Amino acid sequence: MEEYKIDSLVTPQETAYFIIMLIISIFFYLILVISVIGIIYAAIIALCLFFVQGLAVGNIRQNSVKITREQFGDIYSKVEEYSNKLNLKKVPDVYLMQSGGLLNAFATRFIFNDIVVIYSDVLEMAYEQGEAAVEFIIAHELAHVKRNHLSKKKYIVLAEIIPYLGLAYSRGCEATCDRIAATITDKLPLDGLMVLTAGKKLYKKVDSKILIANASQEKGFWGWFAEISSTHPSLATRIKYIADMSYTKETNNEFA
Ligand SMILES: [Zn+2]
Repeated sequence: MEEYKIDSLVTPQETAYFIIMLIISIFFYLILVISVIGIIYAAIIALCLFFVQGLAVGNIRQNSVKITREQFGDIYSKVEEYSNKLNLKKVPDVYLMQSGGLLNAFATRFIFNDIVVIYSDVLEMAYEQGEAAVEFIIAHELAHVKRNHLSKKKYIVLAEIIPYLGLAYSRGCEATCDRIAATITDKLPLDGLMVLTAGKKLYKKVDSKILIANASQEKGFWGWFAEISSTHPSLATRIKYIADMSYTKETNNEFA
């Protein structure tokens, strides 16, 4: 099987902001340890978060459709294929959830178990219009699992107190997962992002070059401010990056 150099796809932002957050977090953890009241507060907050997360995961498991070999087997085989490509220790549990029209997916984790949730409209689109878009979305979520983004959170969580720092790290992680997804999927990776931008039918009519040009012309202060206040890079930034990457991929294939 083809070996993917996943480490080389990690963005410098992800690495740099992780180190900065880790240092700040360790400092805050030390302060907590030396003040007894701090430890009590931390324990109460951790317990509350544990319950909230347990409830959320219980809700997913009880109110969604688990994707298995017998149920949505074609989607399951994609999940299996990408989990193998990424060398994951275990294929994560994947659930299909009704979302009232939202086009999205997310990865979550509870007591050492990774869970990927795909909203039903994403799968509906996959069945109506072909799988290219859904493949990118699945691969992106599995990339979060591969990079341990959720399990690493506990080490850096206290640095979230610093405004915008956690968001900058998150954007670095998202860009990493886009790069990984674009590398391991063989169909047009751009479709996955175009769907998130323009919806499951109209995305086919959008010219990505014009979209990228307009977004960069109109960015200005508020565009920049919106971007730094967000957990994800703007869709135009993500599309531009993946468009450049797919171009390189195609050109390399042509001359290979
Ligand atoms: Zn993501």
